Amino acid sequence: MELIIFYILIFCIGAMFGSFFTLAVYRLPLHEDITHERSFCPKCHHKLGFWDMIPILSYIALRGRCRYCKEKIRPRYLILEVCSGIVFLLFTISICGMGKIDIHTIFYVALALLYIAGWFIIAGIDKETRQIHIGVIFYEMCIVAIYMVYLYILTDVNIYRYVIYLFFICLLLILETWYLRKKLKSNYTILTLLILLIMLAFTNRGQIFLTVTLTLLAIAIDGALEIFAHKKKHIHVQEVKQVPIAYYICVCHIITLIVTNLFVCRW
Ligand SMILES: [Zn+2]
Repeated sequence: MELIIFYILIFCIGAMFGSFFTLAVYRLPLHEDITHERSFCPKCHHKLGFWDMIPILSYIALRGRCRYCKEKIRPRYLILEVCSGIVFLLFTISICGMGKIDIHTIFYVALALLYIAGWFIIAGIDKETRQIHIGVIFYEMCIVAIYMVYLYILTDVNIYRYVIYLFFICLLLILETWYLRKKLKSNYTILTLLILLIMLAFTNRGQIFLTVTLTLLAIAIDGALEIFAHKKKHIHVQEVKQVPIAYYICVCHIITLIVTNLFVCRW
């Protein structure tokens, strides 16, 4: 019974994060505040009240319309909230299974969920704007730092491995700062490498190998499907669009973590 309540709670937290992701993906590239300013309706700009912001339930209760101007709310908000709830739930099940939940497990689950939440936001921003937000990367680095301290205190982990990662992360950050000063914009390749290094620090080599393989496969399949769709509609592709590589990496990483946790390395 305790376990069921715990899992329901995780789903609700996931759905709440889902509505936060939409806000973060929209506001972060515009350098807007994501914590203090209230959400508002994009049509009538009326600030949303507490009852308008309950994930999933508000959408159903208002029948998918704004309470103030009755404008239709895009169903993607609802879909994202449900999907995010399901991903949080699956991820937690992949860690805890049907086993007993103690304080260490709860701490690890919380940390791991905050970790995948960051990748959700990076994926969303990259998909919408083809940019990797450096602020979210710093956030992920903090999560990994807390994880290292946690590992160091609880287990006799090989700390040298992490010192090497830290060295390369600092190196990439110096390169990124140099590029930013010179060209006045971020370097997509450096930030992508930084993402992979941070993932390597939090997970393991096998999971990163799988993440990269899945990413390449997903990009190839998506590209082939797009060419096929264009050919079917007889549209000639003139400009080459930039592939949101970080988006693919983050999504494939989350899928890899859930699948490998479930079937290979149980916590
Ligand atoms: Zn409205």
